[in-house]
Amino acid sequence: MSYQHRYTDGTRIHFPVGKVVCVGRNYAEHAKELNNPVPTEPLLFIKPGSCVVCPEGGFSIPTDRGVVHYEAEIGVLIGKPLSRKPDNEEVLDAISGYAAALDLTLRDVQSKLKEKGLPWELAKSFDGACVLTAFIHSDEVGDLTDMGIRLSINGEVRQDGNSRDMLNPIIPLIQHIAGNFSLQPGDVVLTGTPVGVGPLNIGDTLALSLVGHTETQMKVLARS
Ligand code: ZN
Repeated sequence: MSYQHRYTDGTRIHFPVGKVVCVGRNYAEHAKELNNPVPTEPLLFIKPGSCVVCPEGGFSIPTDRGVVHYEAEIGVLIGKPLSRKPDNEEVLDAISGYAAALDLTLRDVQSKLKEKGLPWELAKSFDGACVLTAFIHSDEVGDLTDMGIRLSINGEVRQDGNSRDMLNPIIPLIQHIAGNFSLQPGDVVLTGTPVGVGPLNIGDTLALSLVGHTETQMKVLARS
């Protein structure tokens, strides 16, 4: 079934599924766990809309290209065009919703690409590489600098982050992105993953939550 953005009450969001703009190493503790330097400006990369899936109980991962890592992240749905370094108010006004997301990564493939200084698409843009749960409406979040993202696997908490620990908080991050290229309605910004990334195994049961708002259960399936 093809993916479409939707709110938690099941309402479909009539934006096209655009690009997914991601930021690497936006939490210092996560940069350290992969032995990466903490960047001085946001490290951006893009996943195409074609790799977005909604979990609906499960999602599948490739089994023939090495380890697939989970990265739980806060996702931001853009609802109005943003470009040329918008101010705070414009950014806030352009946000339509928030969701918990998984930025799935072929970690072995990415390590090889990094060694050679090559771009990351082969590791980050495979079909199904962005799992997006349903969005809550933007007005349900009072403080963007106190949003929790949590992932449990088979009942054990693996990632438990908060937006207060972001090196580039949500609003300045989106300003930076839009200062470099346009964001359009239907685009999603993934705001980086906290410490605790690791491998997924077929059959794992995940509980992914935007703390205090949503919790989505999903099973890891083999790509048929
Ligand atoms: Zn990520």
